[in-house]
Amino acid sequence: MIDFEIPEETRAIREKVRKFVQEECIPAEKDCTADNFETVLAELRRKARAQGLWCPFVPVEFGGMGLRPLANALVQMELGESFLGALSLNTQGPDDATMLTLLEHGTEYQREKYLVPLLDGQKRICYSMTEKAAGADATGMQTTAVLEGDSWVLNGEKWFSSSADVADIAVVMAKTDPDAPRHEQYSTFIVELPNPGYRIVRNIETMSPHTELGLKLGASHSEVRIENLVVPRENILGGRGKGFAMGQHRLAYGRLRHGMHNVAIAQRALDLAAAHVTSRSTFGKRLADRQGVRWMLADCAAELYKARLMLLHIAYKAEKGMDLRQENGIAKVFLAHMVHQVVDTALQLHGALGYSMDTPLAGWYRSVRSQRLVDGPDEVHRWRTGANVIKAFEKYGTTASACGGDLL
Ligand SMILES: Cc1cc2nc3c(=O)[nH]c(=O)nc-3n(C[C@H](O)[C@H](O)[C@H](O)COP(=O)(O)OP(=O)(O)OC[C@H]3O[C@@H](n4cnc5c(N)ncnc54)[C@H](O)[C@@H]3O)c2cc1C
Repeated sequence: MIDFEIPEETRAIREKVRKFVQEECIPAEKDCTADNFETVLAELRRKARAQGLWCPFVPVEFGGMGLRPLANALVQMELGESFLGALSLNTQGPDDATMLTLLEHGTEYQREKYLVPLLDGQKRICYSMTEKAAGADATGMQTTAVLEGDSWVLNGEKWFSSSADVADIAVVMAKTDPDAPRHEQYSTFIVELPNPGYRIVRNIETMSPHTELGLKLGASHSEVRIENLVVPRENILGGRGKGFAMGQHRLAYGRLRHGMHNVAIAQRALDLAAAHVTSRSTFGKRLADRQGVRWMLADCAAELYKARLMLLHIAYKAEKGMDLRQENGIAKVFLAHMVHQVVDTALQLHGALGYSMDTPLAGWYRSVRSQRLVDGPDEVHRWRTGANVIKAFEKYGTTASACGGDLL
C-alpha cells in the first residue's frame, strides 16, 4: 500500500509555519519598505526563532530544525507564499543551497568562520558561476585561478550573481586545472566581501525592475569584474577540481526549492483569484458562477495538484536516498511553467486590477518568467530527460523507469 499520510509531527510543523506566514509575514508585507526592512525582518526573525522556526533543513546541532526532505518540502511550500517567509526563517535563496554546500563540503575552519554567521542570519552569501561567456554549459567559464605562494589569484568576470550586492561572502568558481578532464578543471573559492578584487560593475536591469525594497531583499543580479582577486589557499571549498561536482549538488537543491516556492506562489495566486471571483459580479452574476471561470480555476487546481505530487514523490525518493535526478529535471521544468500559468490565470481573472501593482500578481508574473532559465534552461533539462528516456528504453525495453514508473 502507498501511504500518503503525512506524519502527525510533520503536519504540526507545517501548520505552525502556515500560521506564521499567514498571520505574521503576509500582514507585514503591506508596511514593509526599504527604510524599515531591517527592523521588520529582525522582528519576524525574533518571533520565528522564539517558536523554534529557523533554517528548516539544517541539522539541529548547527542550530536548524533538522527537517528531513518531506517535512522541508511541506514547510517551503508554505514559506514561498510571502516574500518575507523564507527570509524570516533564514532559508532564502541563493543562501540556502550554499549553506548546504558548506555544511557538506566545508572544512572545520570554513564552517566555523563562514557557515556559523550564515546560519545565525548575520551574513548573506552569493554564488558566482555564470559568465557572459558560459551559462547553460558552464564548462565554458573563462575565469582563471592561479596559485601564487599561499594564495590563489583570480581573474575574469561573472554575470547574474544573485544577491551579490547584499552578500558578505561570495562563492566563486574558476578554472584551476586547464589540462584536466572537462568537469575537473574548476574549483570553488570562498571570497570575503567587500573585496577590491571582486567589483560589482552593476546590478543588471531585468524584466522584473529593481525597487529599493527588492534591492534590500537581495533581488538583484550583478555583473562582477574579478581582477587580481587574492584568495587564501585554505579558502578552496571541497577540494581542487571539485567545483562542478559541488555546483551540481548545490543546484539540485536550489532547483527543488524554487519549485517548492513556485507551488506556494501559485497557491496564493489561486486563493487571490478565488477571493476575487466570489466577490465580483458582471452581467448580473458572480464571476464564480460562470462555467468558463470555473474551468479556468479547475485547470489551475490540476496544475497545482500535479506539482504537489511531483514534489512529494521527489521528497520520498530523497528520504529513501534514491536517485532522483530524472524526476528533479522533469519537475524543475514543469513547476516553472505551472507557476507561470496559474499566476497568468489569476491575473486575467482580476481584470485591470491584476495588471496593476495593487496585488502581487503583476510582480509575480514578471519575476516567475526567470524560472524557465535559472538553474539551467528548460531545453537543457528536457534534453537530459529525453536522453534518460532513450537510455531506459535501451536498457529495459520500456521507458517506464524514466517516467516515474520504477516507483509509481
Ligand atoms: C534570475 C536569474 C538568476 C540567476 N542567478 C544566478 C546566480 O546566482 N549565480 C549564477 O552563477 N548564475 C545565475 N543565473 C544564471 C543562470 O544559471 C543561467 O542564465 C542559465 O544557466 C542559462 O545560461 P545562459 O543565460 O548563459 O544561457 P545560454 O547558455 O546562452 O543558453 C541560451 C539558450 O539556449 C538554449 N540552449 C542552451 N543549451 C541548449 C541545449 N543543449 N539544447 C537546446 N537548447 C539549448 C536555451 O533555450 C537557453 O535558454 C541566474 C539567471 C537568472 C535569469
